Amino acid sequence: MNPLSKGKFGPYGGQFVPETLMPALAELETAYEAVKNDPKFQAEFQHLLKTYVGRPTPLTYAGRLTAHLGGAKIYLKREDLTHTGAHKINNALGQALLAKRMGKRRIVAETGAGQHGVGSATACALLGLECIVYMGEVDMARQQPNVFRMRLTGTEVRPVSSGSRTLKDAINEAIRDWVTNVRTTHYLLGSVLGPHPYPTMVRDFQSVIGQEARVQILEAEGRLPDLLLACVGGGSNAMGLFYPFLEDKSVDMLGVEAGGSGIETGKHAARFATPPLTPGPSPQWGEGGEGRSLVEARLGVLHGTKSFVLQTPDGQIAETHSISAGLDYPSVGPEHAWLRDQERAGYTYATDAEALAAVKVLSEMEGIIPALESAHAIAEVIKRAPTMSKNSVIIVNLSGRGDKDLDTIMRELGKDNS
Ligand SMILES: *Cc1c(COP(=O)(O)O)cnc(C)c1O
Repeated sequence: MNPLSKGKFGPYGGQFVPETLMPALAELETAYEAVKNDPKFQAEFQHLLKTYVGRPTPLTYAGRLTAHLGGAKIYLKREDLTHTGAHKINNALGQALLAKRMGKRRIVAETGAGQHGVGSATACALLGLECIVYMGEVDMARQQPNVFRMRLTGTEVRPVSSGSRTLKDAINEAIRDWVTNVRTTHYLLGSVLGPHPYPTMVRDFQSVIGQEARVQILEAEGRLPDLLLACVGGGSNAMGLFYPFLEDKSVDMLGVEAGGSGIETGKHAARFATPPLTPGPSPQWGEGGEGRSLVEARLGVLHGTKSFVLQTPDGQIAETHSISAGLDYPSVGPEHAWLRDQERAGYTYATDAEALAAVKVLSEMEGIIPALESAHAIAEVIKRAPTMSKNSVIIVNLSGRGDKDLDTIMRELGKDNS
């Protein structure tokens, strides 16, 4: 099989890895295909989602927020109420179970904000697997409590001191470890990224979000929603919500990326918001590169998959920025790029300031403090809901809770009050 044609979403996706990893990917693909339709595996997974993760998570009608915005009815899918406080645990548990099934007792993972590291550490503690998490030194300093959580649950956190000492360097180290120890080790990847079969497998494990939401909204409203909204880092919480609705043509979908300090500043992670880089003077950004964006999205390969990648004008992977570490990644899941090409899903962005304002609004209106990532989706609800009729229905994925972000939120909101 031509590796370039495997796991493609239109022109995106694929398997761009060193030859040494091809057997491991093939083994993973075979194992995943086997458990996908294995009632015993699925029953064990569902049982743990129910009794350990706390699923199904509620679908909460946000009555005061709806009244405040004066338009569409707003429902929140409450991934913030899962054990460990974000949707990442769904995928971590699925892959850890699969690793165990494959006879691999050693897990490597990488983490930026620490949420995926915590999810992996938690799943490994539950299932008795050895867990090593690679984390950039800069991120370790920024996310101390999550480093402690991982260590408390028995995981070894390995500092990464190469490159920018953040997520993409940690991913490189995790892949290096996997190549070296591939016989005993599973690489537990945290979003709908990486080489096939990861984008498909992670989407499937996260689809429980959309499956539940579909049943729950039919029960609450007797009909399907008009709009689904989710933030997009790598894109796993959004794919998890969107996927079970893809065939429902009346349901619109919108992903919200990190607009950071604003697209024009170049300090953002909005892969879909910048025009593609063209050689020579760019009509969008002025003649001779003057006024050119500092980062632009181009089709590229990063960490094993082909998708939109934010790059500098000379083709280096860009340093991205977002107030929310979980959205701060230069590439985006290949299936999102494909859904966008087909106009099945739309993509927009919210800036740091809009996300912070959204944290305040949701906290005051509903008594729910969202993760900064999820607040990007709330920021879009604040813009959209008033433009929609009172009969329309929006489901927003509340991908995580804000506890991990309290320091940042208090510091940033404090600036306004002083
Ligand atoms: C990691 C994270 C995200 C972004 O990851 P996706 O793969 O895009 O879902 C969003 N929200 C929270 C709370 C996260 O921890």
